[in-house]
Amino acid sequence: MSTPQDLLAITHACVVTVDAVGTIVNDATIVVGADRKIRAIAAGALDHTAPTVIDAKGGIVMPGMINAHTHMGMTLFRGLGDDMNLEDFLGRLMPAEIAVLSHDAVVAGTELAALESLLGGITTALDMYYLPDAALEVAARSGLRIHCGPNLLESDGPEPLPIAKRMAWANEWLTDSKKREQELSLPNGFDSLNWLSPHSTYLLGEEHLNQISALAKQHGAHIHVHAAETVGEMSLVSKRHNGRTPIQVLADTQLLTNAVLAHGVHLNDADIAMIAQHGATVTHCPASNYKLASGTARIVELHKQGVNVALGTDGPASGNDIDLWLAMRLAGYVQKTATSDPTVLPALDVLRMATINGAKALHIDHLVGSLEVGKYADLVVLDAFSPSLTPVFDPHVAVVAAAGRGDVCHVVVHGQIVVRDRKALNINAAAVVDRVNKLTPVILASVARN
Ligand SMILES: [Zn+2]
Repeated sequence: MSTPQDLLAITHACVVTVDAVGTIVNDATIVVGADRKIRAIAAGALDHTAPTVIDAKGGIVMPGMINAHTHMGMTLFRGLGDDMNLEDFLGRLMPAEIAVLSHDAVVAGTELAALESLLGGITTALDMYYLPDAALEVAARSGLRIHCGPNLLESDGPEPLPIAKRMAWANEWLTDSKKREQELSLPNGFDSLNWLSPHSTYLLGEEHLNQISALAKQHGAHIHVHAAETVGEMSLVSKRHNGRTPIQVLADTQLLTNAVLAHGVHLNDADIAMIAQHGATVTHCPASNYKLASGTARIVELHKQGVNVALGTDGPASGNDIDLWLAMRLAGYVQKTATSDPTVLPALDVLRMATINGAKALHIDHLVGSLEVGKYADLVVLDAFSPSLTPVFDPHVAVVAAAGRGDVCHVVVHGQIVVRDRKALNINAAAVVDRVNKLTPVILASVARN
């Protein structure tokens, strides 16, 4: 019996593994086996039977990045509400969303976001948006891993569903999630549909938060929630929930355990201790936080207390783009300035936030998030001849402090090449851009009416 043929080999790579000790393997070969997993990583040439070979020509190869908080469909509204705070931004955006969003519109916005993500080296996204069936359609087509579930809030939204119906729909979604994964041929074992996204503790009362918690327990579903983003939110939550912080409310409603908390800007010491104790992740979204003047998250303190901190872009309407390179740089630089200590958050720690820590947040760190034998091949090949990546004394520093989206040449997800020579292979870029541009007059008209 012959051994199954390898799928892909990458040669002459400077491999930034982001494994537990930050191993770098120079002039290496990576072999991806028939099962889409990395079969070997070692210096020099390796025997393989792969029909497809990418020659990295000495360039850096790193794990695909994980965007651990985003709203992909919001690309439709990019740049529509700028130079204002979160509350004013939401006041402008939410009526436009309700007026404009349909399944097809969310597909268009999400596909544009998938294109931007893949071209920029992002291989997995934790999405929170309306009409999540649209995101699944894009995931199945584009190759981007999208993890998502029903968006839960007390307003009807564009679906339109009052909260009671929304809860029933969420129950159906979770009940069918495994079947849907199979129907859409999404990769096994990633649990990518087993999510609930309660929007926040300011848009949900305790009764509904308790119902969501019970539903999550019943299905073993993961929780993705906004928490402690702005001073305005802290005051709303305090009024609505008897003087408690968002983290206290989530702990009291048993939603905090292993949850993904988007933002976590305004956390006191007790909040941080609770987050650590419950094994929750904070997804830091620096571009969104600084653009909206939401504040500076206590990332160094979260690290000290052992909290898993991942990185996110937030929605492209508040971000405004989907750029984890920018997020990495802002995360490191602002913490150094905020603490007056340039030694905090060294490059490898920041790179972990954009890769393996995101995988931990999504409970898939045994599958992806670093380049190690036995993990699925989700990886990014950077341009060996990029001026800003020349010379490279420390590859971790080069990736975090000098690389950008323009340096991404090839991207592999689940062992398949999805970006080759800076072109997305599964997305018709011109058609996607055209579809989104055709929606802009409708969006402008809806904003003018409100
Ligand atoms: Zn958000």
